[in-house]
Amino acid sequence: MTTALVVGAGAAGLAVALRLCEHMPVTLVCKAPLGHGAATGWAQGGIAAAVGADDSPTLHAADTERVGGGLNDHHAVEILATEAAQRIAEVIALGASFDRASDGSLALGQEAAHSRRRILHAGGDATGRELLRTLISAVRHAPITIIEATVDELLLDGNRVIGVRAQRTLGNEQAERIECEADAVVLATGGCGHLFSYTTNPPEATGDGIALAARAGADLIDLEFVQFHPTALAVGRDPMPLLTEALRGEGARLVDASGRSLMAERDLRGDLAPRDIVARAVFEASLQGRRPALDVRHIPDFAQHFPTVYAEARAAHLDPSHDVLPVASAAHYHMGGITVNDDGRSSLPGLWACGETASTGVHGANRLASNSLLEALVFAARVAEDIRQTAQGNRCVMRVTPLPRSNGQPNLQAFHTKVREVMYRDVGVIRDAASLERALHEFDHIEAALGTQASHTPLANMLLVGRLIATAALARCESRGSHQRRDFPLTDTRFAQRAHLRYH
Ligand SMILES: Cc1cc2nc3c(=O)[nH]c(=O)nc-3n(C[C@H](O)[C@H](O)[C@H](O)COP(=O)(O)OP(=O)(O)OC[C@H]3O[C@@H](n4cnc5c(N)ncnc54)[C@H](O)[C@@H]3O)c2cc1C
Repeated sequence: MTTALVVGAGAAGLAVALRLCEHMPVTLVCKAPLGHGAATGWAQGGIAAAVGADDSPTLHAADTERVGGGLNDHHAVEILATEAAQRIAEVIALGASFDRASDGSLALGQEAAHSRRRILHAGGDATGRELLRTLISAVRHAPITIIEATVDELLLDGNRVIGVRAQRTLGNEQAERIECEADAVVLATGGCGHLFSYTTNPPEATGDGIALAARAGADLIDLEFVQFHPTALAVGRDPMPLLTEALRGEGARLVDASGRSLMAERDLRGDLAPRDIVARAVFEASLQGRRPALDVRHIPDFAQHFPTVYAEARAAHLDPSHDVLPVASAAHYHMGGITVNDDGRSSLPGLWACGETASTGVHGANRLASNSLLEALVFAARVAEDIRQTAQGNRCVMRVTPLPRSNGQPNLQAFHTKVREVMYRDVGVIRDAASLERALHEFDHIEAALGTQASHTPLANMLLVGRLIATAALARCESRGSHQRRDFPLTDTRFAQRAHLRYH
């Protein structure tokens, strides 16, 4: 019997596991308990799908490519837009309850750079929570083995991926090492936002999938493209609460400490300019000490329409009807990742990737808002189908070894903090050759100071992925999409292709 192993329990991993378990035994390994540690549960804006009467997959695809800086994979975009309606119908059939209009039809929201109302949402701004709840509920009723452990290595036979090695913490400073073999391994470990000191991503988003795939020799692509969200609530929390872009769709305005609009003179589209342009405006205003903030005071029924944002503001002792909300640009989404084809297959036999850790090419150099949950669902279906059709064998081994009781792990927190600060300062919203080289030198120093004590830790993954992102950013001597170089501020046709990277 062919077996599959899925790493990660966000939208991508859960959706792959659910589909595959109809055909083969599936093991799902995740770092945190189900429902925790997945960016999916934090998604506020919604899921894009061309299901409105005035909409079409062609229009959705065109909008997606318009913001992608010329690097989208056209065929992957067509797949995304065309297969969206079917995937949405399936999650509704599973029990997802999206918000509806008074006539019972799906309520469709509008977001910046979408030319039609096509954003499905649930509970106002709690879409990800509802999607995750639905998928987890289905997974709990399915014949899927769930192991809570952190995968830190891919097992290889030649260049074929045959399983994973993981570490499970048992409490009382005890841990065990698990080696799990399978015929198909799917990495669905999410993004890498937590590499940056300002981020909206959960702490589990340390780019593990990219690090694991890189060490195994898989091809990587588009690593320099990290999207920064312009409106993370800057009240000293880590991760930073997100103020959804839908707020600006409803008329919220970015202002500085003196109440002056940040966007009015910067872009004709004002506050509805594309995310990367707004993120740079907010970042520069922060550097200039202008204390950027989002003014939502005039939005009626705020608490009712944006309950999550309202609760975050109140938790920070801010009242959205009286106070402007301080914001900063924060690492939010990684367009780059493990190179995959339209069926999620990586360059290594036995290895597939799905969700944010994969790079299907749908987003190009910049992601259109609300396309990533959709990407996870659409490509999860394709990954599962490809595995069903092509994976062979009957590999099904699990080895568990108790690890010696630790005598206190070295405290790596200071290094962790340092890597994140370097990434935000030098590999962040605006980079240049000097800052990128400085980051690489800093990583050399940190690695030298650490010696071997950090191997197989999240910190080792962060250092490797940080290094890979900085290297990719250094090689792209132009500005495009989310990648902005101070020393090369213009887009250059000589760089009008996706950039591949291999670690070995
Ligand atoms: C605050 C916020 C708001 C967002 N809003 C939207 C939105 O409105 N619309 C939209 O389309 N997108 C949105 N996004 C982006 C979207 O949520 C993510 O891109 C998407 O959910 C990624 O899904 P995923 O399954 O790939 O990863 P995740 O949902 O992040 O899941 C990753 C899983 O992998 C596990 N994992 C990680 N490393 C390991 C390891 N080494 N071993 C074992 N398990 C591991 C994690 O614990 C987790 O279970 C938002 C993101 C954030 C952070």
